[in-house]
Amino acid sequence: MHTVTLIPGDGTGPEISEATRRVIKAAGVPIMWDIQGAGQDIFEKEGTPLPQRVVDSIKKNKVALKGPITTPVGKGFRSVNVSLRQNLDLYCCLRPCKTFKGARTRYEDIDLVIIRENTEDLYAGIEFEKGLEDTRKLIDLIKGLTGKVIRPDSGISIKPISVYATERIVRFAFEYSRKNKRKKVTAVHKANIMKYSDGLFLETARNVAKTYPDIEFEDRIVDNMCMQLVQKPEIYDVIVLPNLYGDIVSDLAAGIIGGLGFAPGANLGEEYAVFEPVHGSAPKYKGLNKVNPLAMILSGVMMLKYLGEPKAAERLETAVASVIEEGQNVTYDMKPTPDDPTAATTSQMADAIIEKLR
Ligand code: NAD
Repeated sequence: MHTVTLIPGDGTGPEISEATRRVIKAAGVPIMWDIQGAGQDIFEKEGTPLPQRVVDSIKKNKVALKGPITTPVGKGFRSVNVSLRQNLDLYCCLRPCKTFKGARTRYEDIDLVIIRENTEDLYAGIEFEKGLEDTRKLIDLIKGLTGKVIRPDSGISIKPISVYATERIVRFAFEYSRKNKRKKVTAVHKANIMKYSDGLFLETARNVAKTYPDIEFEDRIVDNMCMQLVQKPEIYDVIVLPNLYGDIVSDLAAGIIGGLGFAPGANLGEEYAVFEPVHGSAPKYKGLNKVNPLAMILSGVMMLKYLGEPKAAERLETAVASVIEEGQNVTYDMKPTPDDPTAATTSQMADAIIEKLR
């Protein structure tokens, strides 16, 4: 019996979490779920969107499965997702993007792995609000040090990139490639413009690459990478990126394989692992039993592998693949048009997967 922290999340999170819990049970893996609320609703009840009990539960159980959690845009509490990654030093965000037969996509046979650095870059949370005294001091300091003038009505976000964090994420990408028989790692950056942050990322990535001569290494500037992924995604394999580009390119890659409904993810550190879909809480569909549970179910597949249950993981993935290929019991986003009357609900899609597991 495994004990796993389950964070259902908010918005559509609880619906897809329930679907995932049911299919994992049907795959025959006994799991004791330690259910921990976090997010918008908990903020209203407990005054914080991420109570300490949630972090303590993950520290105790070492593994969590998490639904998406809303982050207010431009105001309100800081991202629970980012706090969890930073608190637990989940430095690696692993996002495989693979096409399933039968999925409606513009591309076939795509099998990309996005590896995103998870702890620093513009996500470090070092921000200075417009008009505050500290912001004014920083603007003066920067003028004194560099001669550059920042307008007084500016807000400022700081982008730290270190050798330490870059080395460990790039090393992870190469180790992952070796273990999974991947051939090429592509490092993505904007080192032509941000010479001391992205430049350091690139230089460090090149140094790490030298110690893995058995795996091909190349780099791409992020804007070119986006265009190339749209034009010829099949030539890429494992892609390693700093935090912000990793976030953006993950959604791009999800689009390539048919949408956010298919894109699972894992946040990994030395001690803890939190599995969650790439997509957010899609709040406009909350409570409608409508959204696609596959990204979270496939995150569950990744979790089962991590827990040492490869057979159950494979059975579940095969069941998912067969439901996708049949195209009958699938949610609206997988139908020819979003208003297709034959679209399955979230729970019906889970039922169809469970039926395949019988
Ligand atoms: P989103 O991913 O929630 O939704 C964008 C669109 O993608 C939706 O409108 C919907 O059309 C589609 N979509 C998403 N999930 C789907 C699913 N399971 N099935 C079918 N279609 C799906 O992105 P957003 O609207 O930018 O963000 C909403 C909230 O989620 C924000 O508060 C954001 O901060 C948060 N968010 C959380 C996480 C996380 O918990 N890790 C990740 C990304 C965004």
